[in-house]
Amino acid sequence: MPTSVANRFLLLYGSQTGQAKAIAEEIAEKAGDQNLHADIHCLSLTEKKFFIEREKCVVIITSTTGDGEPPDTALKFVRRLRKKTLPDDYLSHLNYALLGLGDSNYTNFCNCGKSLDKRLQDLGAKRFYDSGWADDAVGLEVAVEPWLDGLWSALKRFLKLPGAEHGGGDADAIMTENKEMINGDSRLNGSTVIENGNKSRSADTQSVHSISNTIPVLTKDLTNGNNQNNLNNSNSAESSVPVCDINQSDCNNSSSHLEQTSSSEKHTDLLVKTLNGTKDNKSNESSMEEKTEASVKVSLPPLSESTLTVPLLPPPFLKIEYNQEQSIDVCDLPRQNDYDFPSAATPVTMATVSDIKTLTSDTAVKKAIFVELDITGSGINYQPGDAISIICPNDTNEVETLLDRLGVLEQIDSCLKILVIEITKKRNASIPKFVSEVSTLRHIFTTCVDIREPPKKALLRVLVEYTSDDAEKRRLQELCSKQGNEDYARFIREPSLSILDILNNFSSCLPPVDRLIEHLPRLQPRPYSVCCSPLTSPGKISFVFNVVETTAECGRTYFRKGVCTGWLEGMSHSAKRDKQVQDTTEKEIVQGIKQLEVSDIKIPIFGRTNQSFHLPDDVTVPVILIGPGTGVAPFIGYLDHRGSQQEAQAETQFGETWLFYGCRHKDRDYIFREKIEHHVSTATLSNLLVSFSRDEQSADAPRYVQDNLRSHGAEIVSLIEEKGAIVYVCGDAKNMAKDVNQAFIDIFSQCKGISSDEARKLVMKLRLHRQYKEDVWT
Ligand code: FAD
Repeated sequence: MPTSVANRFLLLYGSQTGQAKAIAEEIAEKAGDQNLHADIHCLSLTEKKFFIEREKCVVIITSTTGDGEPPDTALKFVRRLRKKTLPDDYLSHLNYALLGLGDSNYTNFCNCGKSLDKRLQDLGAKRFYDSGWADDAVGLEVAVEPWLDGLWSALKRFLKLPGAEHGGGDADAIMTENKEMINGDSRLNGSTVIENGNKSRSADTQSVHSISNTIPVLTKDLTNGNNQNNLNNSNSAESSVPVCDINQSDCNNSSSHLEQTSSSEKHTDLLVKTLNGTKDNKSNESSMEEKTEASVKVSLPPLSESTLTVPLLPPPFLKIEYNQEQSIDVCDLPRQNDYDFPSAATPVTMATVSDIKTLTSDTAVKKAIFVELDITGSGINYQPGDAISIICPNDTNEVETLLDRLGVLEQIDSCLKILVIEITKKRNASIPKFVSEVSTLRHIFTTCVDIREPPKKALLRVLVEYTSDDAEKRRLQELCSKQGNEDYARFIREPSLSILDILNNFSSCLPPVDRLIEHLPRLQPRPYSVCCSPLTSPGKISFVFNVVETTAECGRTYFRKGVCTGWLEGMSHSAKRDKQVQDTTEKEIVQGIKQLEVSDIKIPIFGRTNQSFHLPDDVTVPVILIGPGTGVAPFIGYLDHRGSQQEAQAETQFGETWLFYGCRHKDRDYIFREKIEHHVSTATLSNLLVSFSRDEQSADAPRYVQDNLRSHGAEIVSLIEEKGAIVYVCGDAKNMAKDVNQAFIDIFSQCKGISSDEARKLVMKLRLHRQYKEDVWT
C-alpha cells in the first residue's frame, strides 16, 4: 500500500522466538477493526520491503536476546541506524511507537528496544506514544495489553482519523493526550466489560460482544467434581522405547519417557491427580476448610465482586476433519512443517548419542546428565562457549492424558486435515505455520505445539465459552480480565500451570481440540552450552544439563519433568552403559521394555546463530570464569581448548585462567571434578576456587562463587584493570548472575575506594566493552 494512504502505518517486528512477531501480527489483524491499515514486515527486510527513511508513522515491536543483543532478525536494521555518519536529523520526519520485549532476570532488560528507542530519538524521530517495556519474568501481557489498548487512539489521533478523540498530527501534543487517555477510557478498546451480575457491554462499538451467565463468585471453592477423563491409570514403566526423533516419536504410539522406579511412581501421580479430582476425600475436606485462601480456582473480594473487563472473544478459525479411512505415516511428515527455527544457523541434523551418563550421585538434589553427540558430517561448526539447540517432543503420557481430557483420545492417530473456517471473522486466518495441514493429533500435540506454557489470557477467554459451570466460568473470566492481572500472574504464570492443569482445575471446561490448536504456541527447541572443544573432541559435541522436576502443588495437578530434560533423561535410562545400567536393563527387559544401544539413539539438533561467548583470540589475555553447577559447562570447553593450544604453543606465555566453581556437596554434585583437577595439574587452570553451599564447614568458609570472588577482590581488580582480563559468567540468571554482578560492584568499590554508584558504572562499562560477558538462563 502506498505510504501516502491516510490510515496506513508501517509495522515492524524483530523476533527471536516468535513472540514479537505474534504481537505484531495481532496488531496487524486488529488494525482492520480500527479502520487502520498496517504494512507489516520483519526488521530483517529493511531496504527490501521497507525504507525507514521514507516513513512517517511506524510501530516497532522488538525483543532482546542473549546478553542484551538485538534478535538476529533485527541486527541489520539496528546496525544501519547505528552508523555514526548519519546526521542528527536523519529521521526527523519519522514518528514512532515502540514496544520492547525482555526478561528482567537478565541484566540488560529490554536492551535492544531501549537502545533503538534512544537511537531513533538521537536521529530526530519523535514518539507519538509512550514506549512500552514488557517483561517476560512477570508475564509479557502485563505491559503488552495496556500498551496495545492505548495504541489505537494514539495512532488515530496522529493520523488525524475519525474516531480519534482529539485532533492530531503533532507527536508531542499527542503524547500529552495519550497519558490522559491511558488513565481514562481508551484502555477499554477491544475489550468486553462484564458488570457484576449478568449484564455485559462492549467498549468497542465496532464489535459488540456479550458474555452470558456471568455471576459473581465470593469465596467459592471449585474443587473438581466430575472429571471426564477415563484414561486407564497405566504404569508408565510399561512404555516402550524412548523416543529420539520427535517425528519418530509418533510412530511408536507410546510413552516417551522410560521412567525408572522412583520416577514412574511420580508419573503415576500424574494420572491419579489428573483423573481423580474427587478421589481423595481428605484433600477435598481440607480444601473446603481453606475457603478463605485465594487460588487458581478460588477468588476473593474485591476481584470476586468486581466488574470485569475481559478480552474480546477471539473468533474460531480452524476446524479439523478426520479421515478414518486414510492411513498416514507421520514419520514422513516434515518436522514442525519445515517451518524455520529463527535462531538456527545450520539445518536440523540427526546427531547420534555416543555417550550419555549421570554425573551426580544418587543423593544429589539436582541430577546432572552428560550427553555426547556425534556430529560428523552435520555441518555444525562450533567454538567453546557456543550452544546448540535440541528439538524435543512433549511427553507422550501427558499428550495422551490431555487428548483424553479433551475427549479425542480415540482419534489420536487418525489422519486429519486442518481447514480454515471459511466464514471466520478472524482476518488473515491461516493454519499455524509450524503445523502440517495433514497430520494426526498425536503428531501435532507431541511435536508441534507447546502444552506446558501457561495459557495466555486469549486462550482463557476462549475456555470461558466452553465451561458449563457458572462459578468456574466466572473464575476463568476473572483470570483473563484486566482486574484479574494479579491473580493471573500469581496463580497461572508463577506456578507455570499448563493447559492440562487448567482443564483439571476447571472440570466443566471442555473446549474442542481445534480451539487449542489455534492458541497453543510453538514448541521451542532448548539450547544447551557445549562443554567441549573441537580441538580435543573433533566430530563430537557434548553438553550437560540438570533434570528439571516440578511437583504437583500450587495449582499444578501432576508431577512433571522438564520437556527436554525429562526426555533426555529417559534416554539415559534406556542406554546400555555400564554394569549398573545393565542391571536396570535386565529389570526392564522383564517388564517388556525394549532396550536401545546408546548408538541407536539419534536426536535432532541445530547450531545457533549470534553467539559471542567465546575465548579471546589472544591467548595471553587472562580469563576469569565464573560458573557454578551446570554453568561450568562452557568453561570445560575453554579449558580443553586452552590445554590443547598450550600443548601446541609451548613457547607462548598464556594468560592466567581463574575458575570460580560452586555446587552443593563435594561428594554429590561436583561435576567434571576429575577434568577440572587435571587442568590444574597441567597448569592450564592457574587458579581454582570451589565453594560448597551445603557441606558442613566453618562459618567463614565460602559458600557461593561470589564469596570466593570477594575473598580475591584485589587480585581480580588488578587482573581486570592491569592485564585486561575478561570476565565470563555462566549459569543461573535469576540469582547467581545478579549476585555475581553485585560482588563485582562491591569489589571495585572497596578496592578502588569509590562509591557503589561509580563501581556500578564501571561494571556496566566492562559489559559494554565486552570485558564482562554473561551467558545465563532461567
Ligand atoms: P521446561 O519444560 O522448559 O521447564 C522449565 C520451566 O518450567 C521453567 O523455566 C519454569 O518456567 C517452569 N518451572 C519449573 N519448575 C517450576 C516451579 N516449581 N514453579 C514454577 N515454574 C516452574 N540448561 C542446562 O541445564 N545446561 C546448559 O548448558 C544450558 N545452556 C543454556 C544455554 C542457553 C543460551 C540458554 C538460553 C539456556 C540454556 N539452558 C541450559 C537452559 C535449557 O535451555 C532449558 O531451558 C532447561 O534445560 C529446561 O528445559 P526443559 O525443557 O527440560 O524444561
